[in-house]
Order: sequence, then structure tokens, then C-alpha cells
Amino acid sequence: MDLKIKMKEAGIVGAGGAGFPSFAKLADGAEVLVINGAECEPLLYTDYILLKKEMDGVLLGIKAVLDYLSVGKALLCVKDHTAKKLNISDGTVLADKITLKVLPDVYPMGDEISLIYQATGKVVKPGNLPISAGVIFYNVETMLNVYNVVVKDEPLTEKWVTIGGEVSKPVVVKVPLGTRVEDLFKELNVRVREDQVLLDGGPSMGKVIDPEKAVITKTTKGLLVLPKNIPAIESKFLDGAKSVARAETACCQCTRCTDLCPRGLLGYPLEPHKMVRTAKNAVKLSPEMVLSATLCCGCGICETLACCQGISPKAVINEYKALLAKEKMRFVAKDGVSPHKEREYRMIPSDRWQSVLGVKKYDKIAEYIGEINTFNTVEIGYRQHIGAPSVPAVKTGDRVVKGQIIANANEGLSLPQHASINGVVTVYDSKIVIQNK
Ligand code: SF4
Ligand code: SF4
Repeated sequence: MDLKIKMKEAGIVGAGGAGFPSFAKLADGAEVLVINGAECEPLLYTDYILLKKEMDGVLLGIKAVLDYLSVGKALLCVKDHTAKKLNISDGTVLADKITLKVLPDVYPMGDEISLIYQATGKVVKPGNLPISAGVIFYNVETMLNVYNVVVKDEPLTEKWVTIGGEVSKPVVVKVPLGTRVEDLFKELNVRVREDQVLLDGGPSMGKVIDPEKAVITKTTKGLLVLPKNIPAIESKFLDGAKSVARAETACCQCTRCTDLCPRGLLGYPLEPHKMVRTAKNAVKLSPEMVLSATLCCGCGICETLACCQGISPKAVINEYKALLAKEKMRFVAKDGVSPHKEREYRMIPSDRWQSVLGVKKYDKIAEYIGEINTFNTVEIGYRQHIGAPSVPAVKTGDRVVKGQIIANANEGLSLPQHASINGVVTVYDSKIVIQNK
């Protein structure tokens, strides 16, 4: 069967990102496949463990995509510290047409646009897709999922996840999709105290989630338990509207937020200090004025590290982004841009970024503890990808087996969902619950 159809039928999304359906990235015109193993967020070790345990599968997944698109070259990109742990050096040929590319230990290197430039020297035009620069970009776990469907004929039913932060021992574990975080934490003896929060994702860009309601989805890469009183978490509770109001009066226009913005350093016309200066009402009167807000990758450098006045340009930009999204407006450049000549010297060392976030003391290499598949209940949501939610293909009371389609892809950009355990289903509006009884 055609790889594109196989990837769609297997329900594969970009692992760890926004959940873009992976099949939809397969397009003609690519010159190079860039595989992201940068694992840019502090405290996450999912991709490192996955490469350590399943490198052959990842390489076979990459080969399947290279062959399908007749692309002559793939770069498997990891940060320097990961390369050292894997004992592989820059330029090592891992397989036919696949080379290891070592990236510097800086933040944010996992940002698609920054990584593509670092690995290939190509700058994607602002607001355009990587394919416009001849690049297709995937995560290493996505490539393992391609291998699983191509070689083992297995759809996406499991997830590799780091459990870390303020826990006794950080681990990486493989679990069925839809596993309840509560059940997983009970199994691992992890507790989230009153003075802590749980993040889905890394400390810089992860989201605070409810440990009693959350489940493992196709984009869950890590679950971090962290104290509420560190900068990484405090910034997540900022009031956007208040930040906008405060920014206007407190900003001294030092431009440090712009000087350190990684997208700005690539030559993107994103200048957070100007966004902060923009009058609060201007965005409503003239959204075009702040259109470049859509170029922000949300890394948080301007907010947590750059600003000496305690202002959050990121919060201001998020307000603008929300308004622009409502208006369905985004910045799309016709012309290319060139990186700033000082970019290399203004990148933030990973070590420093960890200290700024207040998470350095929690950074211990996670240990792989294998697969846990003894859960009796999973919850499979219809909306684990960008695009239209899936449509149930079973009815309450049906018995299903692992790997079976339980929700079909909708019209347009969409994906199916599969049972991740054997059991009996209950169909709800937003999800299907499977109980092993
Ligand atoms: S969060 Fe701030 S520093 Fe990061 S890309 Fe956006 S504007 Fe630039
Ligand atoms: S770093 Fe802070 S004070 Fe300086 S321009 Fe940016 S928002 Fe204003």
C-alpha cells in the first residue's frame, strides 16, 4: 500500500508537536529530510531513550520516507549532549543516505525553523512551510511509528513518555495511548502535591494539566511534576490582559527582548519590543500592524530571560496571536530573509536556560523502565491531531481488540483512532473509553 495512505490509516501525527497529521507532510519537491531528535526542552529524555533503544527502527522509518519521496538525504539531528550519550559523532553515516547531525546545546534548538537552519543552512521564509525550502521535518518518534506501520503493520497505539521533574527518579516509559495519568502515577508511585503542578511537555512551553483528568495522547512527550514557585511555572500563570496593560507603561524599550529573540535572530521581522510598545487598542483597530506576532514560536526567552522589567512580551504577543487567529490572519512572506550576524553569539546555552527556569536541580537522566500495559481503562479522544476530529466507528458495548479502528478519519485533514487495549467500549461525544473486562 502507498506509504501516505498507510501513515494516514495508522493515525500517525507529529509526536510531541501540535499534532499535525504526518501523512500530509509527504510532498514532492523535498531535497532533504530533517529528523528532530534535539529534545530541546529541559528534563525530557524521551527521544534520547528512543534512539538508544530503537535506533534501527527509526532508521528504517526514515528510509521508508526517503524511498517514497525519492529524496537523497536525511539528517538525524541531536544535540551535542545526546550525541555524547549515544557515543556517535557529527557526520557519522548511520545508514545509506542518513547522516547524524550534531546541534549545539542551546535553547531553542527543537524549534522547527531554528533547527532547519542549524542543520542545513536554509532559512524557511517567514510564515511559510519547510517544504518551501525543500525540507520535510519529522520527529524521531514519528519515524519509529512509520517503521511500526511499514514493517510491523502496527498502527499508532502506544507512546513513549518521560516522567520527570520533582520526582524521586525520572523515568521513560512506554504506555498505551489513552492511559489515564492518574493510573500511570499510581503504578509509578508519583504524587502531585498542592504546592506542585503537572506539565504536559517541557518547562518552557509545556501546559499545566489536571493530573486527575489528563490522559496520554499522541502528542504527550513528557509529564513533569514541578513546584509552583519557580520561574518556569510562575510565567504560565501570568494574566495576559494585565501583562499587556503593564507592558505599555513599564517597558523602557531597551530592545533586549528583540536582541535575543531566536526567530528575530534568524532574520524574521519579529520585534517583541515593538509589540510591547504597540498601544493596546491598536491591535483591535489594525491587526495588520501586529501580524508578525504569528511568527513567534513561543519559546519564552523574551519573558523569562531577556526582560529586566518583569514584562512578558510573550504574553503580549499571545494576546495578539489570539486576535489574529480569530481574524484568520497570519504573516506570510514572499521574500527570504538572512540570519543576524551575531546570532551564533546570542543563542542561549541549555545550561543557562535551565537555571533561568529554575529546573536545573531536577535534571537527571531518565531511566527506561520498559512498557507498562496492564491498565484496565484507556480514553481515546477524537481530537488528538490538527484538523477535523475523528468520527466514532463503534457503538457502546462493542468489544474491540488492540489495533482495531474505533474512530474513522473525518472529511478533509483528519485521522482515525485505534484501540490501544482489548476491551469493551463506551462512546462519548469527545472520546471513546475502553475497559478491559
Ligand atoms: S517567545 Fe519571545 S523570544 Fe520567543 S520567539 Fe516569541 S517573541 Fe521571540
Ligand atoms: S526587554 Fe523588557 S523592557 Fe526591554 S524592550 Fe523588551 S519588554 Fe521592554
